[in-house]
Amino acid sequence: MKILVINAGSSSLKYQLIDAESETLLAKGVCERIGIGGKFTYKPQLEGKQQVKAVDVLMPTHNEAIQTVLDALVDPVNGVISSMDEIGAVGHRVVHGGKKFGESCLIDDMCIAAIKECIPLGPLHNPANLMGIEACTKCMPDKPQVAVFDTAFHQTMPPKAYLYAIPYEYYENDDVRRYGFHGTSHKYVSGRCIDLLGNPEHSKIICCHLGNGSSLSACVDGKSIDTTMGLSPLAGLPMGTRSGDIDPTILEYLSDRYGYSLKEMIEILNKKSGVLALSEVSSDFRDLEDASWHHGNERAQLALDKFHYEVRKYIGAYAAAMGGVDAIVFTAGVGENGPETRAAICEGLDFMGVKICEKRNFERADEHLISTDDSKVKVFVIATNEELMIARDTYRLVTRR
Ligand code: AMP
Repeated sequence: MKILVINAGSSSLKYQLIDAESETLLAKGVCERIGIGGKFTYKPQLEGKQQVKAVDVLMPTHNEAIQTVLDALVDPVNGVISSMDEIGAVGHRVVHGGKKFGESCLIDDMCIAAIKECIPLGPLHNPANLMGIEACTKCMPDKPQVAVFDTAFHQTMPPKAYLYAIPYEYYENDDVRRYGFHGTSHKYVSGRCIDLLGNPEHSKIICCHLGNGSSLSACVDGKSIDTTMGLSPLAGLPMGTRSGDIDPTILEYLSDRYGYSLKEMIEILNKKSGVLALSEVSSDFRDLEDASWHHGNERAQLALDKFHYEVRKYIGAYAAAMGGVDAIVFTAGVGENGPETRAAICEGLDFMGVKICEKRNFERADEHLISTDDSKVKVFVIATNEELMIARDTYRLVTRR
């Protein structure tokens, strides 16, 4: 069965077509600038098929975007399937599942209503995810669809990890708590790490998902027991443009001084903070490394130092929270591609048995061990694959395996 995996944002839509039985990728791409024009990229993965590099296609809504994707997939020349009948189901990434979803879910009216109820918790993402679902319903009314939630994997956290120390009624009445995000990625890489460790009965793993958005998770026996993001993906580590944790009083202090509304303050923390703000160079780690290493830009180095320091601090915290650590995993854009970042984060962690092998750290592979043979804690780089996880869950729910 072929599964179409959709990750819909407000003006973009990433897609992959995956053969669920063989777990092979057949095609992928992205629709961008939806609603303000439209750019379409299509990358078939079969030999002899031609890639479509960012062409203009008018996409006033997500409906046209999905239709453009489907047309490309069945195109007689460069398509990868002969008809729509080959698509068995659609799997959607949905960012916020609130307290309601500890698992992926077949999409029906009740599921849609529950995703809508989570909009106040995920105002930036859930409405866009719903637009993707609605567009697929319109273009493929007969296909079963599944929602896979970024928050679901972290639903195993104990109350001491997910509760904020604020009046309890805000948790009871308003669902204010830590939810955590990147759950599909944390689930995938922690699962692969357990495989690479030889499937021990017990395991303590710290997963470092370091990309444009970054989060760490502490996983005991394959279950998340804590994670750095909170009610929203703004919390935890400093990120590309997000501040991560700050003293909440800063909101009142700055809004008093500059007359910002709460909405404007949150916008600053989401879009104008993080390593972009500290460096005043870029939110992109490659730009920061270039500015620091090749142009001696001290602010870019400061931003990198801050990022490495905060990740290292959380690694220490999670080792303490779990009473030890067997393995640390690096994943996502920076985690997979930045050996210098990995080395800088792990610097000084030999006291807890973390020793990086310089040679292994600079080798490239989708999955590899980068710690020395005598390192007490194993350190891995594992390329994340959220789309495969979504395809797996979709296939499982649709075939009820
Ligand atoms: P993601 O959000 O997972 O796509 O990650 C995006 C981030 O990964 C950006 O900040 C990129 O600069 C960073 N990244 C990608 N490739 C590299 C690389 N070779 N070295 C350092 N950072 C990289």
